[in-house]
Amino acid sequence: MKYINKYKSLNYNSRKNSKIKLIIIHYTALQNTEDAIFYLCNKNKKVSSHYLVSQNGKIYNLVKDKFRAWHAGQSFWQNITDVNSISIGIELDYSPYGKNNKFSPKMINALKLLVNKIQKKYKISKKNILAHSDVSPFRKIDPGKNFPWKSFSSNSVLNFDKVKDNDAKIIEEWFNKNNIRSKKKIIIFGLTLIGYDTRKVNRNSKLYKKLINAYGKRYLNKKYKIKLIYHVLLKHLFKFMLTKD
Ligand SMILES: [Zn+2]
Repeated sequence: MKYINKYKSLNYNSRKNSKIKLIIIHYTALQNTEDAIFYLCNKNKKVSSHYLVSQNGKIYNLVKDKFRAWHAGQSFWQNITDVNSISIGIELDYSPYGKNNKFSPKMINALKLLVNKIQKKYKISKKNILAHSDVSPFRKIDPGKNFPWKSFSSNSVLNFDKVKDNDAKIIEEWFNKNNIRSKKKIIIFGLTLIGYDTRKVNRNSKLYKKLINAYGKRYLNKKYKIKLIYHVLLKHLFKFMLTKD
């Protein structure tokens, strides 16, 4: 796989010996690749990503992996708030409102190859291939509900489509036995276990709804429907607990 190394961003600093554990996928919400390069390499913007994938499948390497690029902002995953230090950031040349409002097959193929390569190189768990909206559910929506997560193989992204309803029941019973009974409590406990920031959702229904929406868009491509989300989450937890890598 060839990268285009012609453009470099100076918006980075040291990872301070943190290990690379996550891959975060974004979209730029800009008009085209040219604009995206200009933005991500502009010192005044104070943002960057390690990679940018264009609509025609070209991969630009803007920041070396060993450095801490500035793509995740205020984020949280598995109790870690400095997500930039432990992640590789990949931007897609996509805007929901532009001419680049499709996840083109060329772009997605290039992204899959790139994700696979990074995943193998740093031994990243498939549980840790994430959306920006996973690590910043209260302020970010990218890569959005139309992003084709399902086109990734289950070897690279955690897939729980085939988990049986009975197995979801086992998870629910486990919660009930441990005195976690209401749907809301189970959802919050489950999302915490997976890695989401649930610190403020218990007492703030707005934030709770935002979190559920972020999760729903990631895994269902559908609108906020609590019953369905609850059921999917139980299946997710079943797979999550049984999957090592
Ligand atoms: Zn983003």
